[in-house]
Amino acid sequence: MSFEYSEKVKDHFRNPRNVGTIKDADATGRVGNPVCGDMMEIQIKVEDNIIKDIKFKTFGCASAIATSSMVTELAKGKTLEEALEITRQDVADELEGLPPIKMHCSNLAADALHAAINDYMEKQEKGITPPGEDEYEVAVIGGGAAGLAAATISSYVGLKTVIFDGGQWGGLLNKFCPDKLIENYPGLTDKMTTRELTRSLLDDAREQEAKLVNEYVNDIEIDGEFKTLTTDSRTYKARMLVLASGSSPAKSGIPGEEKFAVDDGGIYYLTADPSRLTGKRVLVYGHGYNAVSAAGCLGGIAGSITVVTDEASFMVPEREMDRVKCIEGLKILTSTTLLEIQGAAKVEKAVLEDQTEGERVEIMVDAVVLATGMVPNVGLMEKLGVEVDESGFVKTDKYQRTSLDGVYAIGNVASEIDLLVVAEAQGTIVAHDAYRKLRGGRRIFSGWSI
Ligand SMILES: Cc1cc2nc3c(=O)[nH]c(=O)nc-3n(C[C@H](O)[C@H](O)[C@H](O)COP(=O)(O)OP(=O)(O)OC[C@H]3O[C@@H](n4cnc5c(N)ncnc54)[C@H](O)[C@@H]3O)c2cc1C
Repeated sequence: MSFEYSEKVKDHFRNPRNVGTIKDADATGRVGNPVCGDMMEIQIKVEDNIIKDIKFKTFGCASAIATSSMVTELAKGKTLEEALEITRQDVADELEGLPPIKMHCSNLAADALHAAINDYMEKQEKGITPPGEDEYEVAVIGGGAAGLAAATISSYVGLKTVIFDGGQWGGLLNKFCPDKLIENYPGLTDKMTTRELTRSLLDDAREQEAKLVNEYVNDIEIDGEFKTLTTDSRTYKARMLVLASGSSPAKSGIPGEEKFAVDDGGIYYLTADPSRLTGKRVLVYGHGYNAVSAAGCLGGIAGSITVVTDEASFMVPEREMDRVKCIEGLKILTSTTLLEIQGAAKVEKAVLEDQTEGERVEIMVDAVVLATGMVPNVGLMEKLGVEVDESGFVKTDKYQRTSLDGVYAIGNVASEIDLLVVAEAQGTIVAHDAYRKLRGGRRIFSGWSI
């Protein structure tokens, strides 16, 4: 059996024609060979039934690239019917032959072309027009882990996608804990900080050509198939909406909170800029992972840290606790209630009660960080009547669909499982479901015939 490539194959491999994507493509065809790992995507732009432009992307060997390149040359300028007649054998013949093993494995380009043409024809039958300049197939509100994952994978599967974040890309964690090493993300454990993960998520979103808009969405209206989103500067339309707006700190109700939580008075939440706490004597009060992580994130920033909970323990993995215990000057108090925060113009002291002894103590502090709970950010959707559960999370099904047609919810706004990896997984599920809804047929990347 010969594995020698023809000169034409080598030429198309070294100088592939028509590589890339078409921004306003009319249709896309994707095929893959799971055995060999070759993947191909072909996009077409059609005018008067003629393929005016065609581009490909492929993940595969030299033959996969050469066949993709050749098929685009063969199809460009042909009518759709003529292009449908291009066969795998035609592609191989034009390339002056392919090694026999590659005929089966990598010669998928004609299939990808046919898939693109079929996609185009289906859309014509259903009367689906490609989105205009200000229209998107998917709009994602919130650029935390959940939203960025949804936007990246939506764009990756070929849906025209826009994502908004009015705060800081990377969401909650990147705001308060940019230098935290992520310890519970399988495959990334201890290798990345939150800041690095955010950079990587943003790079992925940009590479897949999702449109990133650094503005808050102030209003949403649903009018039939389209959702209209309004920011300070303009409006956007989208067919599918993904709510990834995360959560906000819950008020604790502790006396002194209202007075000092405004105007830099000394009470902060997990959405604060931690540089405000530089050199200060800080008390972190709250529960579980959030309180311990918040204390850990202030190591090297705050002058001293006392982390306090009214529960018997913080209930966090020992590894996390050990890391926090290493911070110089850090004190841990359990079974201790924060009764009141006092001061004249700014926070000066915290009044605590030791539950076991019933004893009251006052400690001098400059700032208090409250990690006593979070509430899902559902405000924008509430007026549209989206269903929420008794804890305030947006109700979703297994595909993250909400009670409103074409609206999804992911991450902290929809899930009490407060983990980056879960938020990103939910974003990925949404992208696949949106693809199926918008393009019809099977869910992309699903082996099941459903
Ligand atoms: C102190 C702390 C430590 C943590 N440590 C870990 C950890 O080590 N590992 C882990 O897996 N998880 C950790 N988590 C949990 C993790 O932060 C969350 O799971 C994650 O942030 C959820 O992502 P999200 O995208 O749903 O929400 P968020 O990260 O909250 O992002 C939501 C985004 O939406 C934006 N937004 C909201 N409304 C609008 C609007 N109207 N228009 C535009 N943008 C909007 C916000 O600006 C925000 O950026 C930690 C959490 C905290 C508080």
